[in-house]
Amino acid sequence: MVPQRICTQIVDEHKSFNKDIPQFMQEVNLADAGFSYHVVAVLGSQSTGKSTLLNQLFGTRFDVMDAGKRQQTTKGIWLSKAQEAPILVMDVEGTDGRERGDDQDFERKSALFSIATSEVIIVNMWEHQIGLYQGSNMVLLKTVLEVHLQLFHSKKERSLLQFVIRDYIGTTSMVNLSETIKTDLMNVWSSLSKPPGLEDSKITDFFDLGFTGLPHKILCSEAFDTAVDSLRTRFSNSDAPDYVFDPSYHKRIPADGFSLYTREIWDTIENNKDLDLPTQQQLLAQYRCDEIIAEAMEPFTKACSVLKSEFLPGNICENLASRMRELFEQVVKDYDRQAKRYNSAIYEKKKQELLRSVDTSLYVFFQAQLNALQKQLVASFVKTAESFPSDKPFKELSSREIEKSKCRMQEEAQSLMIAGIDWDSAQFLLKLSEELESSCDSVCKQKLLSKIAEMRTSLQTQVAESLEIALQKPNLKVWDGLLDELSTHQKQAADELVRVFPLFMDSAEPEVAQDYIHDFHKDVWMAFRKKVVLEMSDLLLQQRLRVYFEETFRYDADGMPKLFKKSDTLDLDYRESVSKSLELIKVLSCMKYSDGRTPELGFDVKEIDSSFSSPNDFLTILNRKRISDTSVNLKRTADLIYLDSKRSVVSTQTR
Ligand code: GDP
Ligand code: MG
Repeated sequence: MVPQRICTQIVDEHKSFNKDIPQFMQEVNLADAGFSYHVVAVLGSQSTGKSTLLNQLFGTRFDVMDAGKRQQTTKGIWLSKAQEAPILVMDVEGTDGRERGDDQDFERKSALFSIATSEVIIVNMWEHQIGLYQGSNMVLLKTVLEVHLQLFHSKKERSLLQFVIRDYIGTTSMVNLSETIKTDLMNVWSSLSKPPGLEDSKITDFFDLGFTGLPHKILCSEAFDTAVDSLRTRFSNSDAPDYVFDPSYHKRIPADGFSLYTREIWDTIENNKDLDLPTQQQLLAQYRCDEIIAEAMEPFTKACSVLKSEFLPGNICENLASRMRELFEQVVKDYDRQAKRYNSAIYEKKKQELLRSVDTSLYVFFQAQLNALQKQLVASFVKTAESFPSDKPFKELSSREIEKSKCRMQEEAQSLMIAGIDWDSAQFLLKLSEELESSCDSVCKQKLLSKIAEMRTSLQTQVAESLEIALQKPNLKVWDGLLDELSTHQKQAADELVRVFPLFMDSAEPEVAQDYIHDFHKDVWMAFRKKVVLEMSDLLLQQRLRVYFEETFRYDADGMPKLFKKSDTLDLDYRESVSKSLELIKVLSCMKYSDGRTPELGFDVKEIDSSFSSPNDFLTILNRKRISDTSVNLKRTADLIYLDSKRSVVSTQTR
């Protein structure tokens, strides 16, 4: 079965525009044709075989008046598609324009519509009417030309007026007939009042004219068929020398905008408004470009939300660059495919709008990716930096690492960039750089501090040990060795700090190094003092003083036990030992050299505790009260030892 050839009213008998034209365009497969389609319309008096001709020429099925019943066909502008070519064919069905006012109005409007939308206008007329100035042909021609002038001020395209002479007998040559028609046209043209600037214009400035004769369809049916066949090739074969569709006739309305454009034109005509085609075309372009954007954005937005659902915040999306580029290219391609055919300024302007919203949607991913990458880079930097060996220059290693991270960020930003979109990656780089620097500083400081703590602990352990040993068997020069040792260690530590400092800090910060050294000294001193205080608790002090007293009292300078034979020696020794012990208490009470010098502290004791009024205060371990208590205590212990010794001397002597 031959598929039903679709035929519809583009404008119905009540002069309203058919809202189903977009669907019609789909059904005839022209919706995506772009510019690859043509429009032909036919004008001419009623019952001059127009529909018959179109049907035979294009394989359409327009209504033809039944010869037997002479029944009227349905009024309106009919639209169909040629069977074998992308040609839209419009058949105007009216009544004879002379009869009633309303019909005249329709005649005029449909002529205007045909001229505004078609590349080729077939003007159909009987041969025997040619040259009859009063004939309905003249009314038609006048209408066409008047209408054209109405359009003219905005109409840039040319059109072809293809005259088809029906029931052409052949006795008068076509040349003569066409001359007659041209004369008629010229006469009509000159009788029309023209807009300013066009007073001297000729009809051929705007129209190309073509003439074809067709024999009587019924009387000479074979000859008619042959003539129509050859006319058909002129419409369908673009290689034919007399191909009717010159590119300059095309209205440059993309097929997807055809229904909208023709509807606007009809509405304007129907409302008797001025028909300004360029404005119409611009409005169409704006409207269509908006529609095309909406169509293109729909799958784009969907794809974006799919991507968003897969791409969790804080994570890095491996193939983000290619996916974004795909999305971008697809949406631009979707837009371009259809929109490119419209007014180029509007196409460009709307494209910028599209790009702005695409930009906004995609930037979210760009930003998320770079933020996530920044976190990752900082975290991995911290990890790497923490494991740098402490004898290697930290600053140098870390700045190499920071450079690597920045390069990685730059690479990623670069890979995410899309041609045509301008994203600023500088702010992300700057933020990364700041984060890395501050992480670097804190890791560095932490490493430096742990290095210092390590040194301090080892120093304190050594000094504490020396202190314990020294206080075990204290003597009057007990501080000399300890203070010397402490100061040597402090000096060594300071040298070491000065040496390691550049590994952690920029060389331009010597005063910072001094601050650290200062704190180091202070901390070591504080710890030392604390240890001394601990070692000189009442109990330990008394034990140690007792030992000291006994040693001086019972042993001589060579460490040999003294034999107290005579009590006068005993008394002398006792007095000497007591006074030496009391002297030792004094010595122990304050950390000073035996020659009276106080050690160099190198810091203000008030920094430690405001209750220390002077370095001496800090160095003092036993206050006057404790000195006196301790002395009393010692004296008591000494007395007991003395009595004990005395008793043993007496018993030896009395034996
Ligand atoms: P339209 O009103 O111009 O579309 O005319 P139609 O195609 O409906 O045809 C009107 C009448 O003219 C019909 O009865 C046709 O049979 C008849 N007709 C069609 N072609 C020709 C032709 O070439 N010569 C003559 N004399 N009549 C024709
Ligand atoms: Mg008809």
